[in-house]
Amino acid sequence: MFGRGRRVLLDAFIVTAALATVDWVFLFHPYLHHTGLTGLAPALALAYPLFDLALFACAMKVLFSVSARSPANRLVLLAIGAMLAGNTLFFANAAGAPDRSVEVLDNGLWLASYLLLGVAGLHPALLWTARPGDNRRTPLTARRTMAFAVATLIGPACLLGMIATTEPGGWDRTEWHHLAVPATLSGALSVLLVLRLSLVARVAQRRTLELDRRTVELDRQAGDLAEALRERQALEQQLRHHALHDPLTGLANRGLLAERMEWAFSRRDGGTRHALLLLDLDGFKDVNDTLGHGSGDELLLDVALRLRELVSPADTLARLGGDEFALFLEDVEPVQAVDLAEQIRGAMKVPLLIGGRDVYLSASIGLVQITDPRVTPQDALRDADLALYAAKRGGRDRVTPFRPEMRAAREAFTWLADGLRHALAIDQLAVHYQPVVELSSGRAVAVEALLRWTLPARGPISPAEFIPVAEETGLIIPLGAWVLRRACADARRWYDRYGISLTVNVSGRQLAEPDFADLVLRTLTEVGLPPEALILEITETVLIGSADEGAGRSLAALERLREHGVRIAIDDFGTGYSSLSYLAQLPVDILKIDRSFVPATGAASSDDHAFTRAVLQLGASRRLPAIAEGVETEEQARLLREMGCPLAQGFLFARPGPVDVVDATLAASNTELPSDDSPVGTGVRR
Ligand code: C2E
Ligand code: CA
Ligand code: CA
Repeated sequence: MFGRGRRVLLDAFIVTAALATVDWVFLFHPYLHHTGLTGLAPALALAYPLFDLALFACAMKVLFSVSARSPANRLVLLAIGAMLAGNTLFFANAAGAPDRSVEVLDNGLWLASYLLLGVAGLHPALLWTARPGDNRRTPLTARRTMAFAVATLIGPACLLGMIATTEPGGWDRTEWHHLAVPATLSGALSVLLVLRLSLVARVAQRRTLELDRRTVELDRQAGDLAEALRERQALEQQLRHHALHDPLTGLANRGLLAERMEWAFSRRDGGTRHALLLLDLDGFKDVNDTLGHGSGDELLLDVALRLRELVSPADTLARLGGDEFALFLEDVEPVQAVDLAEQIRGAMKVPLLIGGRDVYLSASIGLVQITDPRVTPQDALRDADLALYAAKRGGRDRVTPFRPEMRAAREAFTWLADGLRHALAIDQLAVHYQPVVELSSGRAVAVEALLRWTLPARGPISPAEFIPVAEETGLIIPLGAWVLRRACADARRWYDRYGISLTVNVSGRQLAEPDFADLVLRTLTEVGLPPEALILEITETVLIGSADEGAGRSLAALERLREHGVRIAIDDFGTGYSSLSYLAQLPVDILKIDRSFVPATGAASSDDHAFTRAVLQLGASRRLPAIAEGVETEEQARLLREMGCPLAQGFLFARPGPVDVVDATLAASNTELPSDDSPVGTGVRR
């Protein structure tokens, strides 16, 4: 719009007009007056200073174009300077009494001027193109404003100077034409200044507009930014909520629980007590399995609602996953915590209406009181978990407070679990066999396979110790399969030779495996032992449990095995406190009377034997042979014989032993069958 070139040109004209005024007043007017030239001469004489002024204007233009100050341009400027100085000296000299030495100086300056022009022409930077100037500079610098102010004063100052310096007898002050040139020049100067200032004003206006536009744009951007910031904050809040809450119930999650505990623990002083409850629903898995996951979710929501009603807003209620909930109580007396835990347990027993059905639940609760200031949230959670685990093992539907012994028990459990896994991997396990004998003849009719684990450094570990660990960790499944295969392989020889059977213990976990029957039948086929030779021992509680569950899968597996000729014995019979009438509904072939019901030696009254007698009679009536377990003395054997118990097992006859020991025992007690005879006989043999 307003080319920088036009501004520079105007500036050059302003300076030139000012100089012209000064020149006229102090140089040419005295010169013309002094020389008294007439005709065309004055016009000719004036041509020099006019061209000087034009040259000066050019020089100013170069000078004001900051970007055009190349070395060659500087030389040209110097040349013009020398030329103007020479001309000025000439006129000044000519206006007074001419001086020879000034004339020499004039000529010197003119020559210098030509020389400088020549050098500039040869300078390699002559063709140096000007860089585009920086248009963003201030439209009028303070220095230039000052210069313009001075320029406006030059006209009047020169006029006054001209009048004041006129010598007596000089020009006539009443003749107006003497003042016409300086007045015109100073008028032109004023016009130039106005033009220049209007340019400045337009630039300033343009800049203001630009600034306004930018301000609006900046305002808009600031608005956008604020909006984005708000969205981000909302998102952050949402993310934080998601990160700290359970999506299903909206309760706190493990992270938030830990955070709250951490905070409470950090400001714990001597007397403050907290409590942490861990709650697990009993039988939730069954609800999930039978009613579906939708109903499971509905149930969890109802449970969360029920819990919310019982706790105060200051307490932290969390869902840790699955059907496990936690409640952190700050600043609470131990009795209050126990009371609340019992209240919750009671509330869980009220049936819930899920999908139009009443669902009955109960809860196991582990409770830990936190009084030790060194306890961390992780410690508290771990202790509460141990207490919960104890509540589950203790029979569910109970509140179990944490006790320090639980920690040692858990450590022992982990140690056993790890050791057992390792033992299975490195073949550290063995199977021993204990004969089952016919009381009337003392002949072995079967052997019971019993798992043995011996640690080189610690010696043998009792199955009573490690079997429950194996069951809980699920290790019993590979372990049981291993025992079955090994025992069937060992027993095959004894079956062939003496016609005796093999009994193998089976845990509930194994029985619940969908392919249990397949595994047994496959093992028998692979090892070459007929199904008739195998008896599976299943405890009374497991058998009744699987009948109760109504799932029927376990029972169906047993039925299928029985169809193939495998027999089922109830192990530890009598310890399950079940009614004897139950027996009729179970797929059973043999009863194993638990050691605690085998008549004690010595002063045993006939009452003590009542149960044993009842069981034996029941067995006889249902044609189920009975095996008395844990027979240690001759007297016990005699009593059992009198009661009509056909079979027995115990240290009296033989302790469980490895294959070679059993080989010797059997060789002593049994006679070998003729090689072509198929095994026949009494008792547990089919
Ligand atoms: P159980 O099935 O009742 O096995 C009989 C237990 O009584 C054996 O203990 C045996 O050594 C012991 N015993 C035998 N005669 C006498 C006696 O005259 N007096 C006394 N006091 N004890 C006698 P063991 O071998 O320590 O096994 C303990 C339990 O571990 C077994 O009880 C059984 O429930 C379980 N078990 C052992 N091996 C296996 C296995 O391979 N699989 C499964 N699932 N459980 C097993
Ligand atoms: Ca057994
Ligand atoms: Ca037993």
